[in-house]
Amino acid sequence: MTRMTPLLERNEQFASAYTPVALGPPTAQMLIVTCLDHRVDPAIVLGLQLGEAPVIRNAGGRVTQAVIDDLAYLAFLAEQLFGGQDADDRLFEIAVVHHTQCGTSLLADPSFRHQAAEATGLPEAALEASAVADPNITIKADVDRLLTSPLLSPKVSVSGHVYDIATGAPHHHRGRPVPIAAKPALPRRGAARPAAIPARRPPRPITRRNRPEDSHAIHRNRRPHQPVRHRLEQRPAGGVHPLLGIAARPVDRPDPALASAGPRCVL
Ligand SMILES: [Zn+2]
Repeated sequence: MTRMTPLLERNEQFASAYTPVALGPPTAQMLIVTCLDHRVDPAIVLGLQLGEAPVIRNAGGRVTQAVIDDLAYLAFLAEQLFGGQDADDRLFEIAVVHHTQCGTSLLADPSFRHQAAEATGLPEAALEASAVADPNITIKADVDRLLTSPLLSPKVSVSGHVYDIATGAPHHHRGRPVPIAAKPALPRRGAARPAAIPARRPPRPITRRNRPEDSHAIHRNRRPHQPVRHRLEQRPAGGVHPLLGIAARPVDRPDPALASAGPRCVL
């Protein structure tokens, strides 16, 4: 009898009714980046089912260089295996979710951070950069980092959300959700495109006045996609650091209201 024993017993129940899920694109067309905190498990908080969405978790749910590397590979893999022929086909949306009461906030205290640096061997500056003292600030920084990364395919949408540990429920929603009709299921390579997908129109030039607020607009405003091999050569030396976060809204530019508001859940 170990601490793992009761969990293995739960697995017996799970396995008894298990149906394997074939390798394929995430059925929710989402990828979640969030904190490893056991109170913000996306399977519970967002009700994710097997096969719906990959989840990347680290301390704080921060967008680190390692996270960007994984996202770049996943986008490449998705495009190679499941991507459509059209340059505008979307692969998936990345939802970065930071949360209140994050344990990394303790790293904002110099004394605690110094002790943590000595215990882990990590630079104090890196630990300080990883702290989620105010998730409303860090979520914007991390979404911006994804949107400006040359490694990330422009076919990937990005949104940022803050989950409130105190309520567990979304009480704030930044902007409009992406209309489902605008994100049709991706056709398999060589497969006939479903008749329900409307014919594409030439993209309009994006200006400050007509700039759409949905996730697709974010991609049109991102720099042109570069071949993966070439982009990897441009990877900056040295890794950056981690931090943590779930919701349904794109964050593509600074929002003063977000920075000044209190903790909220933007699921
Ligand atoms: Zn956390």
